[in-house]
Amino acid sequence: MTLPAATGFLAAVREGEGPLPLAPLATAGLRDDTREDLDGRTVFSGLVHTGDPDGARARGRNASLVLAGELYNQEALRSLLPSGAGPTNDAELVLALFEHYDLHAFRLLNGRFAVLVHAAGRVLLATDHAGSVPVYLSVAPGRVAAATEAKALRGVAAGRTLRAARPVRRLPGVHQVPAGTVLEIALGGGTCTAHRTWAPPLHRRILPEADAVDAVRRSLLRAVRARSGPTAPLVVLSGGIDSSSVAALAALEADGPIGTVSMGTDVADEFPQSRVVADHLGTVHREVTITTAELLRRLPHAVWAAESLDPDIIEYLLPLTALYLRLEGPGRRILTGYGADIPLGGMHREDRLPALDSALAHDMATYDGLNEMSPVLSGIGGHWSTHPYWDREVLDLLVAVESGLKRRYGQDKWVLRAAMADLLPAQTVTRPKLGVHEGSGTTSSFSRLLGDAGIEPSRVHQAKRLVVRELFDEVVVAGRHPDEVDTAQAVQSVTDRLRHRVGAGS
Ligand code: AMP
Ligand code: MG
Repeated sequence: MTLPAATGFLAAVREGEGPLPLAPLATAGLRDDTREDLDGRTVFSGLVHTGDPDGARARGRNASLVLAGELYNQEALRSLLPSGAGPTNDAELVLALFEHYDLHAFRLLNGRFAVLVHAAGRVLLATDHAGSVPVYLSVAPGRVAAATEAKALRGVAAGRTLRAARPVRRLPGVHQVPAGTVLEIALGGGTCTAHRTWAPPLHRRILPEADAVDAVRRSLLRAVRARSGPTAPLVVLSGGIDSSSVAALAALEADGPIGTVSMGTDVADEFPQSRVVADHLGTVHREVTITTAELLRRLPHAVWAAESLDPDIIEYLLPLTALYLRLEGPGRRILTGYGADIPLGGMHREDRLPALDSALAHDMATYDGLNEMSPVLSGIGGHWSTHPYWDREVLDLLVAVESGLKRRYGQDKWVLRAAMADLLPAQTVTRPKLGVHEGSGTTSSFSRLLGDAGIEPSRVHQAKRLVVRELFDEVVVAGRHPDEVDTAQAVQSVTDRLRHRVGAGS
C-alpha cells in the first residue's frame, strides 16, 4: 500500500449509552465512523483513512482493535503465528498477536503506530517505541476516550488525573501516552496502569570498525526497504548525510527513479547541495521556495499539527510543515532523515567523547512528548511521513554503538558516513551538519520577527516560547483552525505582555 490504511483515529468505549463528543482531527483524509453496541458497552471508532478503513480495524472473538500507522517487521511477527490463513493487514496481525501474548504483544512490534484494543471492559492504548504517533486519552469511570490528536478530546468532559500518563496543558483530564508504553485501563473503575514496552539501550557495544559500518548499512537498508511501499517514495532531501543516505538506499531499492524535494526560503536554501545528490542518484527532483512571510504564517499550522509547546521543536518543524502543505496531488509516502543526530550525537560539535555520550543519554531520556516525529505534520497535507533512523532496530543499534565510532577521525557521525561512502558523492559524505532551521533561515526569520516587534535580543527565546504557547492555546485548546489564527497577532500579544512585565518590574 502506498499509504497506511489509517493515519489517525479517535475512539471511545463507554458503559451503557450516551454521547461521545469528539472534535475533528487536523489529519486530512477520508473519515469513517462506526458505532457498535457490545454487551452493554458502546464502542465508537472514527478513522482518518486512505480508502480502506477495514484495513485499520480488526475484530476477534473477545477483542476489537483500531490501528493508525503501520508495522515494519510483519514477516517476523507472522512467524510467531500458526501458519495457514494468517492476518492480511497490520490491524489483524496485532490482534492475532494480542490473542497469543496479551499486552506483551506490544513488546514485539517495530512500527510507527497508535493502537487501541477493547477486550471485554478492558481498554489498551499503545504507541510505538518512539511514541512517534502521539496518542492521547481521557478516562472517567465507565468511559475511555482516545485520539491521535489531543484537540479531538477537547469536548470530552474532564477525565480523572492519571499518574501513568503525561497531562496536556489546559485540557483537563487529557493525557498523552508515553513513548514505548501500553496503558491498560479497566473501564469500570477507570484505573490505568502503564506497561513499558521499550527503553533506549543504556549499554554501549564495542565493535570492530568494519562490523559497525556493515551493521549500520544493513540495518538502515532494511528500515528504508520496509518503509518504501510499492511505488517509488519521495525523500525530503537537504543534501546532508542523513537524508542523502535515505535517498541513496531508497534509490537502490526502487525499480524506477525515486522522488526528492528540497525546500528553501528567500533568505537561505540548500539547493546546490541537494542537487548534487539528486543528480548523482538520478532522482526526479524538485526545489520548492517558500517565502519567509509564508513560513511565519504557517507557525499556527506547525503547532496545530505537532501539538508541541517546545519553541525549538516548533521552529525546527516549521520548514517541513510548510513544505508538506505545498506538496499538491495525491497523498505521498515521504521518507525523511529525521532523528539521525540524536542517536549519533550529530548536533554535538566538539571532539570530546564523554560530552557526546552525555548529550546522547540526555537526548534519549528526554525526546518523549516533543512530538518531533508526529505524522500529523505531513498528515495535514494528506501525506504520510516516516523516519528510517527511528526504526526500532536502527535506533537500538545506533544508540548502542560506542561513541568512539560516532566521533572518529575528526568527523561526526563517522560510522554512518563510512557506511554510505560508496553510494554518495564524496562532498556529501563529508558535508558538515546543518539543521533544517538553520539551512532555511527559519530561526533567524522568527527571531527577526520578534526583534522587529520590539523584543530585546536577550528575551527573544522567552518570547518564542510564549508565542508558541499562545498559538497552542488557540489551535489546540480552543480548537480554532490555523488558517484563522494570525502569527502577527500572537507576536503582538506576547510583546505587549513582555513590555507590561518589564514596566511592572521596574
Ligand atoms: P536536519 O535538521 O537537517 O537534520 O533535518 C531533518 C530532516 O529534514 C532531513 O534529514 C531531511 O529529510 C529533511 N530536511 C532538512 N532540510 C531540508 C530541506 N531544506 N529540504 C527538504 N528536506 C529537508
Ligand atoms: Mg540538514
